[in-house]
Amino acid sequence: MSSIVVVGANWGDEGKGRIVDFLSEKASASIRFQGGNNAGHTVVNNLGTFKLHQLPSGVFNPDCLTVLGPGMVISPGALTEEINLVEKAGVKLNLSISDRATLCLPLHALEDTLEEERLGDNAYGSTRQGIAPAYGDRVMKKGILVGWLKQPEVLTERIQFWIDWKLPQLRALYPNLQFNQSAKEISDWLIEVSKPWRNSICNVTIPLKEKQAQKQTLLFEAQLGAGRDLIYGEYPWTTSSNVVSMYAGIGGGLPALRPTRVIAVAKAFSSSVGTGTLITAMDQQDTFRETAEEYGATTGRPRDLGYFDAVATKNGIELQAATEVALTKIDCLTGLSELKICVGYTGEHSDNPIWPQTTELTPIYEQMESWHEDITGCRKFEELPEAARRYILRIEALMEIPITMISVGPQRDQMIIR
Ligand code: GDP
Ligand code: MG
Repeated sequence: MSSIVVVGANWGDEGKGRIVDFLSEKASASIRFQGGNNAGHTVVNNLGTFKLHQLPSGVFNPDCLTVLGPGMVISPGALTEEINLVEKAGVKLNLSISDRATLCLPLHALEDTLEEERLGDNAYGSTRQGIAPAYGDRVMKKGILVGWLKQPEVLTERIQFWIDWKLPQLRALYPNLQFNQSAKEISDWLIEVSKPWRNSICNVTIPLKEKQAQKQTLLFEAQLGAGRDLIYGEYPWTTSSNVVSMYAGIGGGLPALRPTRVIAVAKAFSSSVGTGTLITAMDQQDTFRETAEEYGATTGRPRDLGYFDAVATKNGIELQAATEVALTKIDCLTGLSELKICVGYTGEHSDNPIWPQTTELTPIYEQMESWHEDITGCRKFEELPEAARRYILRIEALMEIPITMISVGPQRDQMIIR
């Protein structure tokens, strides 16, 4: 049996979706273990191009059980839309949704938006999907569980309990709040909107344990990257859940999981969307952004771009307890006139760059040789130009774990396995 956990080494958008899609051909379950509709995982395969938000990226393998784990917050309306979209494209779904997961409701999205507006210049850069308020309510023990969708009376009761506590606070803080739905109206809407997938709600631990006993391959997928972990990331510019691999079992429905492989997905350069700092920011971002198509999959916001930051990525790899690295988007560096890797920082506390970063740090660069050949057709490491191989080997030496997968394009088969 192997349990493979695919996580981000950086700040997200490393290409986890395409790595999971590639690995899912041999997996028996594909499991999302945290986050919700704020994820944007792009998959390009024989069925088309998909931007997945809540469904795990192994959804295209009809033999793969698709699990939305208990660690997730689930936006019901958006899930129905996403299911319709992939089914229209010919995907046969085999879905299990955790009864322990938390619902992320329209009122949460409204709260998220009003709070970002209240914060103005200090806003978190949220996707405004309601993720933070939904997790916040879960922690306050006011969350609405997905399992209650199967018990309409309990559902209405719990929603009443929740809004009695929630609305007075929201009304006090946001005088413009427009919200007049009753608990019964919310609950009726939920019952209606969850129709297409309500029968898939279950205790996901049961099928996962069975698969584990049969020594089948389980594939866990995180959203975002180490730099955005709620505890270990660049707080408060983090997400509201744990994105590190050690959470895969807990959030995925197999709390006693010991992963056999942890693949940290790292991008061949740095990118970041939302708020926070990118120490290795490039000067010529605009031209490169077009080449690398670096826009947020959920929001369409332009991502900040920079040179490969070996310090932050190594830190991410350690936080992820990674056993190997998948390096993506190396093809985007083709033809870049200046290529360099950040191998250290100068500045206060630069010898101990543990987030949260409190000081201004200046990157120390190592110059690398560029290459100009098109590498998108390479399928073996030896086929890559020498400068590209040197670049990859230098990153591997700095990361101190093997780079086992190298992707040279967004398509499923544009992959080099080492
Ligand atoms: P995720 O959130 O980690 O799954 O990553 P995203 O899907 O948000 O962002 C990665 C983007 O890069 C997507 O548009 C992918 O199609 C694309 N992509 C992934 N791997 C490669 C690659 O090797 N080369 C190129 N050119 N694009 C890639
Ligand atoms: Mg993404």
